[in-house]
Amino acid sequence: MKILRQNTIFQKVKKIQKKFQKPIDKSKNFVIIITVIITNKVGEEMRETKQKTAILEFLRSKRQHHSAIQIYDAVREKIPNISLGTVYRNLGALIESGEIISVETSDKCFFYDGFIADHAHFVCQGCKGIFDFDMPKGMTEEMEKSGFSVNSERLVCYGLCSDCAKKAH
Ligand SMILES: [Zn+2]
Ligand SMILES: [Zn+2]
Repeated sequence: MKILRQNTIFQKVKKIQKKFQKPIDKSKNFVIIITVIITNKVGEEMRETKQKTAILEFLRSKRQHHSAIQIYDAVREKIPNISLGTVYRNLGALIESGEIISVETSDKCFFYDGFIADHAHFVCQGCKGIFDFDMPKGMTEEMEKSGFSVNSERLVCYGLCSDCAKKAH
């Protein structure tokens, strides 16, 4: 990846150098190289911000839980050249910064949620649906009564949703 980036910088520098008809002196050449590196860096940062914003906007636009592949497919409509690896990397960063949350299913798949207010999740082991519920009242109060300090609440229940439970009987 790093080598590839250096090559693109090298190609850009060469292209600019070619535009000058006669050989350019060392100091000018240095300015060209620095300018290309800075432009590349700024471009890269802008691209990264754009990718992260697109992922976050998609997740916040829907009160649903999406897999990385689903997010990748949706974001690709806006940014066709985005890679799945980039999507994963950004999802990790967004979780780290607390801008999104993830829910793990019973078969160890992760789904991502842009709705970050404290809420509980029910994961259906039949249809794989993920449902939001209000947090049960009194849970953190109970913990705090015992002297624990709660910073955030996460609760995931696994089982069958009402539709799947009906089908199972
Ligand atoms: Zn279900
Ligand atoms: Zn949720």
